[in-house]
Amino acid sequence: MQVAANSVVSFHYVLTDAENGETIDSSRERGEAMTILAGRGQLIPGVEKGLEGKIVGDKFVLVIQPEDGYGVHNENAVQRLSKKYFPNADRLKDGDHVVLQTKFGPQQVRVLKVGASVVDIDTNHPLAGVTLNFDIEITDVREATTEELEHGHAHGPGGHHHH
Ligand code: ZN
Repeated sequence: MQVAANSVVSFHYVLTDAENGETIDSSRERGEAMTILAGRGQLIPGVEKGLEGKIVGDKFVLVIQPEDGYGVHNENAVQRLSKKYFPNADRLKDGDHVVLQTKFGPQQVRVLKVGASVVDIDTNHPLAGVTLNFDIEITDVREATTEELEHGHAHGPGGHHHH
């Protein structure tokens, strides 16, 4: 069967930065294919679209622009904050990733520059503005179970393990 909305698809992927070829993430290194319920926005739009209609054994490469990936880099996402907002402020270094508590919940930010009393941070997603190269192999496609459709996610290896 083909991948369509509400099918459960398993796939291996190697994600690299399309510009410099650096590996960002790989399901093969973890040794377990990713399993998702298709059509529920669990993947970035470019991958969700790229999986549609594929069958077991298909191998393909998706080159995904930031607009269909983790978004474009937003210059307004760079902010200057007082050090008091940072846990362990004394140990902060340029380039650190830290989680700040905001009114929207916890948010991961990247430290650009640590000053004497302030810290410049970038709240963009780490992959914002990056063109992504996904090397994908479909390893399984099946109908979702009633339980999976109710929960809104796939169960079993590579999916959720909460039961
Ligand atoms: Zn569940």
